[in-house]
Amino acid sequence: MIKRLFKKVFGKSRKAAKASKAHVIPFQQHKVAREGISYASRRVTDGLQAAGFQAYVVGGAVRDLLLDRHPKDFDVATDATPEEVKRVFRRARIIGRRFRLVHVMFGDETVEVSTFRRAIEAEDAETDAHGRILRDNEFGDQEQDAARRDFTANGLFYDPSSQEIFDYHNGYADIRANTLRMIGDPEVRYREDPVRMLRAVRLSAKLGMKLDSATAAPIAKMKELLSNVPEARLFDEMLKLLLSGHALACIKKLRSMHLHHGMLPMLDVILEQPMGEKFVMAALQNTDQRIADEKPTSPAFLFAALLWHEVLTVWNAKQAAGEKPIGALHLAMEEVLDRQRAKLAIPRRYDTVMKEIWLLQPRFEQRGGQRPFRLLALPRFRAAYDFLLLRCESGEADKELGKWWEEFQHTNEDRRAEMLLADTAGPKKRRKRSRKPKSAGQAELPID
Ligand code: ATP
Ligand code: MG
Repeated sequence: MIKRLFKKVFGKSRKAAKASKAHVIPFQQHKVAREGISYASRRVTDGLQAAGFQAYVVGGAVRDLLLDRHPKDFDVATDATPEEVKRVFRRARIIGRRFRLVHVMFGDETVEVSTFRRAIEAEDAETDAHGRILRDNEFGDQEQDAARRDFTANGLFYDPSSQEIFDYHNGYADIRANTLRMIGDPEVRYREDPVRMLRAVRLSAKLGMKLDSATAAPIAKMKELLSNVPEARLFDEMLKLLLSGHALACIKKLRSMHLHHGMLPMLDVILEQPMGEKFVMAALQNTDQRIADEKPTSPAFLFAALLWHEVLTVWNAKQAAGEKPIGALHLAMEEVLDRQRAKLAIPRRYDTVMKEIWLLQPRFEQRGGQRPFRLLALPRFRAAYDFLLLRCESGEADKELGKWWEEFQHTNEDRRAEMLLADTAGPKKRRKRSRKPKSAGQAELPID
């Protein structure tokens, strides 16, 4: 009954879209060929259209194709309900309770299919005290679905059968002018969902698009609204920023917009540590490079880097207070993680790896006897070594130490034997030495 009503109201043929207010851009103009979209997303749009529904590739993928970039993933929007989508495909499952989407699988590719939605008018919407919309899962038509999206560049629909683009908000021209512009009134849209402010900065930095001035202007005065957003969502958004492959560009953009303070606690950690700035920047650059090289990146490694100088400071303080080095390091790690958990909402699942990376750092100093061989054999050696290299690069650890380990890893047994340092300090001697600072870098740190 509801389904019939839904179809009656919104229609279900492709003509419906053409009769609407969309500006239709033909292939001859935009030049995005059907072959440019992934195999699975083509199968999904073909399957839905063959079953009589509208189906389009939407959002970031269309934008990226127009910008000559490689889309990360392909999302499809349709007028079919999640149940109807599921019925069309053999391998499909409905996910999400509030915001129901369908994942359709072809081979090892998964396509996210969402039913057209509409934004609920502000006066009818369920919001928090600051105007943030809490519920936005009402179905709608294509035009309404375009209007609820964030930026004009993200609001385009590509039909792989006709190779036409449907544009309701001048997104095509904005992309051609390399401009990221909010759909509708930016202040209203930021109030509805403050995360859009972060998306504005992240996407403009990542895509090298300039932020339209009316879109950028309200951010400075509205950034406090971010503190009302649930922590888990902010954490996800922050992770997207840090792992966008353009983390350094994002940070620079925030700085240039004077947004680097009070936007997000995680950013404050990154940008407000004078001792660690060089190290954190090296870590972000390294992460960007790894993403460019299509190497895996681990959030835990990045968090370990972001918090390292805090750990160092506490570690030094504990040692100065008479704790033994390794005991002091354990205490410092717990203290920093506890403090940051409250502030940054870094999930506990990253703790183990972060601690392993930190705990292996003092072991790089031990270069005699069997210890280097044992360290080399550990599964976490590689991550810890990459971390050491960042410490060397930022000047906190001795460059010579990084070079030693570089050679030790790759050389033959004879050379390794030659390389082992004479100071094979036994446990007794080590305890004595432990009263002294462990490395030049540490010794320079202020002890508070
Ligand atoms: P990326 O390349 O980083 O994935 P994206 O634009 O595809 O960028 P997604 O988070 O994958 O970002 O979102 C997909 C689409 O959903 C966006 O293009 C946009 O149309 C819409 N969207 C996402 N987040 C919001 C939001 N907070 N408000 C309105 N629309 C949004
Ligand atoms: Mg996307």
